Amino acid sequence: MITIGSHLSVSAGYAAMAEKMAGDYKGNTYAFFLRNPRGGKMKAPEEADLERMQEIRRANAFGPMVAHAPYTMNPCSAREDIRDLARQMMAEDLAQMERMAALSPEEPIYYNFHPGSHTGQGAETGIQETAEILNRVLDPDQKTTVLLETMAGKGSEIGRSFEELRGILDLVERKKAEHLGVCLDTCHIWDGGYDIKDDLDGVLKAFDAVIGLSHLKAVHLNDSKNPRGAAKDRHEKLGEGEIGLEALRHVVQHPALQGRPFILETPNDDAGYRKEIALVKSWIRE
Ligand code: FE
Ligand code: FE
Ligand code: ZN
Repeated sequence: MITIGSHLSVSAGYAAMAEKMAGDYKGNTYAFFLRNPRGGKMKAPEEADLERMQEIRRANAFGPMVAHAPYTMNPCSAREDIRDLARQMMAEDLAQMERMAALSPEEPIYYNFHPGSHTGQGAETGIQETAEILNRVLDPDQKTTVLLETMAGKGSEIGRSFEELRGILDLVERKKAEHLGVCLDTCHIWDGGYDIKDDLDGVLKAFDAVIGLSHLKAVHLNDSKNPRGAAKDRHEKLGEGEIGLEALRHVVQHPALQGRPFILETPNDDAGYRKEIALVKSWIRE
């Protein structure tokens, strides 16, 4: 069975997210921000709300959740205060993730973040700084797997190439790196220059050679408003962008990607998400 869902708002609570996904969208996973995506203060969830969420997820045979770090979190800013804030936010977020993990210790749980923008320091320095924060924040005994997201390369973003992500992974201490993985965003790698439309096999082969497919834990399934290599990062609804439905169907059906949660981050309303989730499910049922 495919694991498919979308990003959801946590504003009505944690159980409400699981309920909305199961009952309204008919999916079986979701992503969410633990705090305002711009980074504000964290409101720690009530234990009863988390327990209720896990009950709903179990009753509906959900796949793993994929939480998303705030967009503004920049672990490799040239400014030290911004890096400190990133470290603090990640540590706080991971503490909450561990509360959720403790309620379902047998299943994987993911926390996805953007490796950051080096803001002029150069990619190599950026890679070192992001790895340093991971070394400080990761705990060898944690249950949460932290995912580096593949990026479009907008501005000074690091993580546009598989090699840059590999560079970060290589600098994290072994015991801690066991809790790291990668989340592949189809819009981002397309905007970053990878041709998933005409050479999906080749792209996945490159991923395997540089990072290793066993590290690929989740997929963000998005079309792109821009042509390949644009380095822009503007998501589009499935089939309405430059990647197109056919290529996205091949991504969902690719043997090397089975078993991963697929998360939609497309510009949709409720009806649009219902439709896209049903469509993606139909691709696997065939
Ligand atoms: Fe993201
Ligand atoms: Fe994404
Ligand atoms: Zn994006």
